[in-house]
Amino acid sequence: MQRCGYVALVGRPNVGKSTLLNHLVRFKLSITSRKPQTTRHVLLGVDTDGPNQAVYVDTPGIHDHARREMNRQMVRAATSVLADVDLILMVVERDLWTADDQRVLEILATHGLARFVVMNKVDLMRRKEALLPAMATMSERGFDEIFPVSARKGSGLEPLRRAVFERLPEQPHLFPPDQITDQSERFLVSEIIREKLMRRLGDEVPHHLAVVVDFYQESERLVDIAADVVVERPGQKRIVIGEGGEKIKLIGAEARRDIERLTGKQVMLRLWVKVRPGWSNSAAGLRRVGYDPGRR
Ligand code: GDP
Repeated sequence: MQRCGYVALVGRPNVGKSTLLNHLVRFKLSITSRKPQTTRHVLLGVDTDGPNQAVYVDTPGIHDHARREMNRQMVRAATSVLADVDLILMVVERDLWTADDQRVLEILATHGLARFVVMNKVDLMRRKEALLPAMATMSERGFDEIFPVSARKGSGLEPLRRAVFERLPEQPHLFPPDQITDQSERFLVSEIIREKLMRRLGDEVPHHLAVVVDFYQESERLVDIAADVVVERPGQKRIVIGEGGEKIKLIGAEARRDIERLTGKQVMLRLWVKVRPGWSNSAAGLRRVGYDPGRR
């Protein structure tokens, strides 16, 4: 029986998320960059090991939001990000716990999901005897499991991987173990576009939009892509397009850059914004509409 699921990786910039992923993920997606400000892509990487597959995803904006006042809108935004995941992995720096960490934890706690905390960089702890009490404190914060690791040294990671796999639901794998197929590239492309939309639109448009990749053709040097951004109301369409088309142009340019990095080829990306009233009521989730061509 195969296990497969989404794991949300949460953590302040510089706590070592990229370093951790590099160790966890054998089949590494090239869209991950090492710079803190660019590690916000929705899909980070896939860790496949025999019957197990963990798909690591990012939670864009959760730390931006944490800086603002906690309100319902913020909780809703985080909810839409976390709706589809099976497990939350929160990365912190050894025994440090900031106000930002606390606010993020409060958002996470509103989801009935399993929560692990990874105490990274334990190699920097001078007093080893401080580790056990620090783990106890983490446990009091309501984490299901606690993993002291050093991502840089690669220590403590195997128990973490095994525990992650154990929490994933029994279902077939989403990705082939060692290659990116056309289908999964379409999926990645729609995820990249969706992430840029979320980031650039902020709270302006509720998370009632979907991205459907209509056309995807890859030749030796070029990838030609057409995608629909589906919204519910004409007012939302105006916001997505922006004044004089500025917003959608910017979103398209940012997405194109990331897709070029992903494919290693030149990318032509055409985005169309379409209004389809009520589509989200019938859809099980944004993501599903985004990558299930059978629905169209
Ligand atoms: P991210 O912004 O959360 O993705 O963090 P990065 O993975 O880019 O790491 C931030 C910095 O912390 C880098 O300089 C890493 O080399 C360093 N780092 C990551 N993990 C460890 C660790 O386990 N121990 C130590 N000492 N440094 C680490």
